[in-house]
Amino acid sequence: MVEEAVALDRILSAASPSPVMETPLLETLGLFLAKPLRSAMAHPRFDNSVVDGYAIRVEDGSGERVLIGEQPAGADRFLRLERNESSRIFTGAPIPEGCTGVAMQEDVTLENGRVRLRESVELGENIRRTGADLAAGQLIGSPGQRITPQLVALLASQGLATVSVHRPLRVTVLSTGDELRPMGVALESGEIYDSNSVMLAALLQSLGIPATLRHCLDDRNQTQVEINRALEASDVLIISGGVSVGDHDHVKPALAALGATLELWRIRMKPGKPLAFARFGEKLIFGLPGNPVAAFVTFLLLLRPALLQMLGARDDERFLPEKTLQLDSALANPGDRPHYVRGRMDGGRFIPQGLQESHALFGLSRSNALLRLDPGAKISGGEKVRVLAW
Ligand code: AMP
Ligand code: MG
Repeated sequence: MVEEAVALDRILSAASPSPVMETPLLETLGLFLAKPLRSAMAHPRFDNSVVDGYAIRVEDGSGERVLIGEQPAGADRFLRLERNESSRIFTGAPIPEGCTGVAMQEDVTLENGRVRLRESVELGENIRRTGADLAAGQLIGSPGQRITPQLVALLASQGLATVSVHRPLRVTVLSTGDELRPMGVALESGEIYDSNSVMLAALLQSLGIPATLRHCLDDRNQTQVEINRALEASDVLIISGGVSVGDHDHVKPALAALGATLELWRIRMKPGKPLAFARFGEKLIFGLPGNPVAAFVTFLLLLRPALLQMLGARDDERFLPEKTLQLDSALANPGDRPHYVRGRMDGGRFIPQGLQESHALFGLSRSNALLRLDPGAKISGGEKVRVLAW
């Protein structure tokens, strides 16, 4: 059995970042920047009006002003205000030369082409200044940063039609088992629904990774054919089940026959012991335990960091964030493997949820965090614990 930390190390050292591709901005959501980005221009790019109103020279005081023109948002009309002159102006329109403030239209009376202020205007009032938000040449993105809708907004405002990102991963999920049936069909005696492939696809989707789903029976030949087919089409193959030592577990022999190098098998953790990791050239193959909770936990702890590293994510994006909470009630781990307890973070407390066994999906469905209990650990209720949040 391999220690968890050793397993993670081996997996991460095999997970190289995917190639960098110049990609249309709208296709980059959820991917990671491959290069530093600097602003090509200041934001705002020119002084402009905050409101619909009247551009004035504040220094002319409170007397009447002559209306000399209009500046809507759009093409600059290059208006220029002389003493006691004003121009109509609209939100986002460039500020005319000489203008030192904008009066809101609600605060202005207009009579015979003359503008009278009903409220005084401060110097610079209602003017957005060039570069107040962002200077030209400022760093706006760094390698490994996740592309979020808010970053997309900034990059679009800079006119960036494409950005350099690590290309998306192609992942196949192959679920093995004679007992498995797809959702939506009736079950015969002894059969269960294939929830792992759907669960793994959902976990991948939460990382922005689309997955191809395949199934194969517990048959040596079929397993090998499906693994081979998946490897041709994917960067990463995630196999569910069939990786233990039973007579119906064909994954390891199939991998060996295909010439994949087995890097790891069996990890000292609970749930999740029967996990295999193999390489086939640059491609990575994970054999996850068939038990759903074991597959879920090993995905979060071992596959998620590797997949994010392949997508080019920086360190702080790769691992689950830690939170300090108060343990709701006493817990112990009498076993010889670290135990990841599934529970719910709720108002500063960590509350274990449901049956802590590797097939117990109901408790998992109510959980949003993992508490790692060392072998032999005993923790009393009310003690502070560090949990991994997902
Ligand atoms: P295995 O690792 O193939 O021996 O499977 C271990 C346990 O997980 C068995 O109880 C299987 O029925 C169950 N299992 C395997 N694959 C799936 C799956 N795709 N969805 C739900 N349960 C599964
Ligand atoms: Mg099986």
